[in-house]
Amino acid sequence: MTTPLPAAAEYVVVGGGTAGNVVAARLAESGREVLVLEAGPDFGPRGDAAWPADLVDATRLGRSHDWGYDSGDTYPWKVGFERARAIGGSSDMNGCTQTWGHRRDYDAWAEAGLTGWAADDLRPLFEEGARRMRVRRYLASELTPWQHAWYDAAPAVGMPRVATLNDLDENAGFAPEDVNIEDGVRVNTAFAYLDPARALPNLTIVGEALVDRVVVEGGRATGVVVVHRGQTRTVRAGTVVLAGGAYNSPTVLLRSGIGPAAQLAPLGIPIVQHLPGVGENLHDQPFLLMNWEGSARMTAEMDAARAAGWAPDEQAMGKAASSLESEAFDLHFLPYSPTHRGERTRWSIGTSALLPRSRGFVRLRSTDPEAKPIIDHRFLTDPEGADVRMLVDGVGILRELAASPDLAPLVGRELHPGPDTFTREALAAHLYANPDNYWHPVGTCRMGLADDPLAVVDARGRVHGIDGLRVADCAIMPRVPRATTAMPAVVVGENIARMLIEDAA
Ligand SMILES: Cc1cc2nc3c(=O)[nH]c(=O)nc-3n(C[C@H](O)[C@H](O)[C@H](O)COP(=O)(O)OP(=O)(O)OC[C@H]3O[C@@H](n4cnc5c(N)ncnc54)[C@H](O)[C@@H]3O)c2cc1C
Repeated sequence: MTTPLPAAAEYVVVGGGTAGNVVAARLAESGREVLVLEAGPDFGPRGDAAWPADLVDATRLGRSHDWGYDSGDTYPWKVGFERARAIGGSSDMNGCTQTWGHRRDYDAWAEAGLTGWAADDLRPLFEEGARRMRVRRYLASELTPWQHAWYDAAPAVGMPRVATLNDLDENAGFAPEDVNIEDGVRVNTAFAYLDPARALPNLTIVGEALVDRVVVEGGRATGVVVVHRGQTRTVRAGTVVLAGGAYNSPTVLLRSGIGPAAQLAPLGIPIVQHLPGVGENLHDQPFLLMNWEGSARMTAEMDAARAAGWAPDEQAMGKAASSLESEAFDLHFLPYSPTHRGERTRWSIGTSALLPRSRGFVRLRSTDPEAKPIIDHRFLTDPEGADVRMLVDGVGILRELAASPDLAPLVGRELHPGPDTFTREALAAHLYANPDNYWHPVGTCRMGLADDPLAVVDARGRVHGIDGLRVADCAIMPRVPRATTAMPAVVVGENIARMLIEDAA
């Protein structure tokens, strides 16, 4: 779509991604004038031939429109930090698993003084987000044999089969997933939120529009500098809402002179507001993908499921508590069966430590808005070693499950991380040498009260010290919920939109 770039808008939403589209649609539906500036292309509404097949096909992860971020030389091997650069954002390429987390996650935000973020405040937004995203729950009878095998065996290690992963008060359990899939299509937030609003005259969506920085005059955001089809322009704005995601919202702030003064000065960026928390507190849930050899029976059953049609990679999930967790759960188990690729079959299940203690950072390499930032997650660096212990416990539960009488003949021998890692020490050493992520980065513009030196925004998403500037995406989460973060991102969008509309009234 080649929409011309307007000179001004009442609200400029930077990033037409998962949360940004929710904010934009809600504001436009309430009668406000909204401009969405998305760095990647706008492929138009659902069904438009411009949409790349891999972004729409819900059986596998999308790949084609990635920002290309990775760990650089901060790890022993390169870890990809995938993020979609296209209208819809990372909701274009994700696994379509929709989880909410646990009541404690959000109540803890509210207990820290963040009014409006308690679980009971957010529950209606989760319900509304699920409705808009056309979320449905797989029936157990729809699970592929690989997914079914783990789901069936889960009670052997104390994980009951439960109806849903999304009961905010429930702890351990294994359940068929809730997914935002309709007729095989990944229902991204461009389809769910923007499409019903696209016809509104007060909503403009401009793709290929990379926002360099926010213009701040007299302590107030008055616009953005944007690179659009090779030309640098300034668009004036009543309010700027950053929704570039956990890696990019902080980089826009830093290029705007809003961040730690000591980092900005060497780059020659004039300091507009010293906010030491910008780019800090980066965290994601460390992850390990385990592989087994499989069995002739499982191969035959999966081949038959594939031949029958629908065999997506992700369908069921387990939750359990490690030895560190007493109030709810802190582990996910995710059977993953990429059999559709036709390559060497990997019989996999991942485990992730959902409440990591380690914290990293995002920093600018240069002032060029196309330059990749330095992203150092500092996975598994917490001094107590809690994160690695959580993962080691997760692997232990999966090994016990894989050895259960029903599952053992189906999964065969463990190949990865394999028999060399059967002691806790050897497994921990393997994890330290092979850090991996669960694709859920958060926290780099975290919410907090004004007296919190590392807070970047307040409970209404307002950047401390700057008027007319908000952040609304995963970056504002002070701590990652015990969840995959797609639906929590939608809920952040819903909640900040609700507050923007209230504040404009
Ligand atoms: C491969 C993968 C699989 C995943 N699987 C799951 C899953 O199964 N379930 C789940 O719950 N979660 C999953 N996630 C995580 C989930 O998708 C993300 O947490 C969520 O989509 C992030 O939303 P966001 O709004 O914070 O950022 P995004 O959705 O990434 O949106 C940011 C948007 O801003 C744009 N942007 C950035 N910088 C600029 C700029 N300077 N100017 C203009 N535009 C800009 C980007 O192009 C993008 O469109 C997965 C993520 C990935 C990458």
